[in-house]
Amino acid sequence: MRRECPEVTVIHFVSDGPTSQYRNKTNFYLASTVPFMMGFQHVTWNFSEASHGKGAPDGVGGALKNLADRIVAYGTSIPDVDTLHHQLDAQSSVHIFKITEDDINRSSELVPPSLKALPGTMKMHQLMSSSPGEVKTRELSCFCDGACECYGVREFSFREKETVLQNKGGGGTTEVAQKKGGGDATEVAQNEISEDTTEVTQNEISEDTIEVGTWVLVQYDGDLFPGTVTQISNGQYEVDTMTAIGENKFYIPTVKFPGDKVWYFQDDIKAIIPDPLPITSSARHFCVLPEIWNKHSKKNPFRI
Ligand SMILES: [Zn+2]
Repeated sequence: MRRECPEVTVIHFVSDGPTSQYRNKTNFYLASTVPFMMGFQHVTWNFSEASHGKGAPDGVGGALKNLADRIVAYGTSIPDVDTLHHQLDAQSSVHIFKITEDDINRSSELVPPSLKALPGTMKMHQLMSSSPGEVKTRELSCFCDGACECYGVREFSFREKETVLQNKGGGGTTEVAQKKGGGDATEVAQNEISEDTTEVTQNEISEDTIEVGTWVLVQYDGDLFPGTVTQISNGQYEVDTMTAIGENKFYIPTVKFPGDKVWYFQDDIKAIIPDPLPITSSARHFCVLPEIWNKHSKKNPFRI
């Protein structure tokens, strides 16, 4: 749609409302993020009430089923999805898209593991969004103007407030609020600099070489993440990391969660790295230069 009619920036979805398919937090999250990645500026999703859903989509669906019946009646077998797709596409003006398992997996990757649930989901019939992760809902749909307040609009955000560093200075330990993937806050002991760290410390990692904006490879809970330094304070570094979806495979989440930015000690910064490289098979995915990754990855048998 964006390709054929780039002037269209508002998209309205109309569907029935079973929670198993459309009326759930995962779909709300995708509806309030993916359209913006495609260049839309405003989105609404409208749910018909049970047994009241005979709208345009049902009419189109019914017409396609009838067409498929006719094709078979005229002697063409339809043994699989690809044939169905091909036949309907050739004989109907309706655009038909095949959703592959890969497409579904790619969408799943976009959804954070712990999503907040929207209150009042069952009563809601319209979801609206004009900004990624920020939604408005109401019990009845209204289209009188894009920003109207009819039928009592409620606001909801999938974002969460930034985690705040609590520096209790003075002592030998610093408590750092660390939340990642729903983990608990952890108390982190001050760097223990042992004698066998020469390999790491003699890398070019130092307060002189790391500045805000520098790409670094950090270790968190045994795993490595690329990220950019966003703040430096008292020998610690706040790093905004990418999200992992595989071995040396990362993406930048559309909506930032508090766990994405964590304070690290210099010890946890394993390397200063060049900008992550796009993985050519998928425009949204990046990897760390394999040479550097392999050197620090725990999968490397030569690293202790
Ligand atoms: Zn209105």
